[in-house]
Amino acid sequence: MPRKYADNRSLARQCALSFRDFPLIFAGMPRVAVISEPNAAVEIREVGEPSLEANSALLEVELSEVCGTDVYLQQGRLQGVPYPLVPGHVSVGQLSKIRGQMFDVEGREFREGDRVTFLDVHRTCNACWYCLVAKATTRCPKRKVYGITYGLDDGLCGGWADQVYLKPGTRCIRLDADPETFMAGGCALPTALHAVERGDIAIGDTVLVLGSGPVGINAIILSLMRGALRVLCIGAPDHRLETAAASGAAGVLNFEDVSERERMDWVLDRSNGRGADVTIEATGAPAAVIDALRCTRDAGRVIVVGQYTDHGETSFNPHLHLNKKHLEVRGCWGSDFSHFYRGVQIISDPLKSSPWLQMKDRLARYHLDEANEALADVAAGKLFKALISPRQI
Ligand SMILES: [Zn+2]
Ligand SMILES: [Zn+2]
Repeated sequence: MPRKYADNRSLARQCALSFRDFPLIFAGMPRVAVISEPNAAVEIREVGEPSLEANSALLEVELSEVCGTDVYLQQGRLQGVPYPLVPGHVSVGQLSKIRGQMFDVEGREFREGDRVTFLDVHRTCNACWYCLVAKATTRCPKRKVYGITYGLDDGLCGGWADQVYLKPGTRCIRLDADPETFMAGGCALPTALHAVERGDIAIGDTVLVLGSGPVGINAIILSLMRGALRVLCIGAPDHRLETAAASGAAGVLNFEDVSERERMDWVLDRSNGRGADVTIEATGAPAAVIDALRCTRDAGRVIVVGQYTDHGETSFNPHLHLNKKHLEVRGCWGSDFSHFYRGVQIISDPLKSSPWLQMKDRLARYHLDEANEALADVAAGKLFKALISPRQI
């Protein structure tokens, strides 16, 4: 059984120590959890500690995330992935060794012992057509992502490990919030922040979020912060809809219980018969994109952020569902430093962070050698979120 936070925290209390007080206890060869090839079980390997290039660092991992992308990595459903690889693209830890100098965006130098997270996207070039002309850096062809498009051959580049090698140019952010609260947002926070930004939500808008996974939950919270009057959520299963309601959704509906027509009527009943002003699709199911078009008001906006993996095709009526409705549809790919930075700012604010604080009890923690169990539980939708905790505490 996974260890829940409640158990670990009570243990920490018994020892009269907080999580922050635990010393760095890593010694010996770094261990990594590796997916050697598509559909292979995760295996633990010991690897040599890397020699550091100038202006790089080693991160002692405290927590790393297990998300839907990791399930698809294990199933071999992402293209261009260099196996073997170490998953874990959003992580928190302490800088255990720095060679040269590393600075944050405020110009403050990082020191060994600082607790940081880092932007999982590396090597955005700021020199190509997409970076400079289109100003769409998430489509930069040079970008690499720790734990996804960096493989084991590239070094210690995934968070399911004792250590991550932070290559020169990696954008670190000092983390003042406690690691559990930050990881309650995890990779879904910058993804949802980008989607809400793309949604151009206006004060007083009715927003519909399709999907009640981590991205959907974060989209609910951030839509309300952005000024939405109410946010509706259609998703499943019930325990995730409970989280959606606790996160501020004015109404939740389990899509498994109702027909397409009933889903649409449910939205119309809550939006003066017009449909949502903005709909954010965060499901992973292609058919949900059609639902998003149908449930959005005429001249409204649809953001598609839930199709990170190719789940196939769907069909729609371009006259009825798109043109006649005068809809604006926007895709939303990845996130950049600004989304990551703003997410950390919100999580670090005592007032703004309360929605994520509430979610801490819903996190489940697994050790490195329990990674297969964590993946299976995430794939089965049993959890709100699973974390890998390499340290034994
Ligand atoms: Zn993720
Ligand atoms: Zn570029």
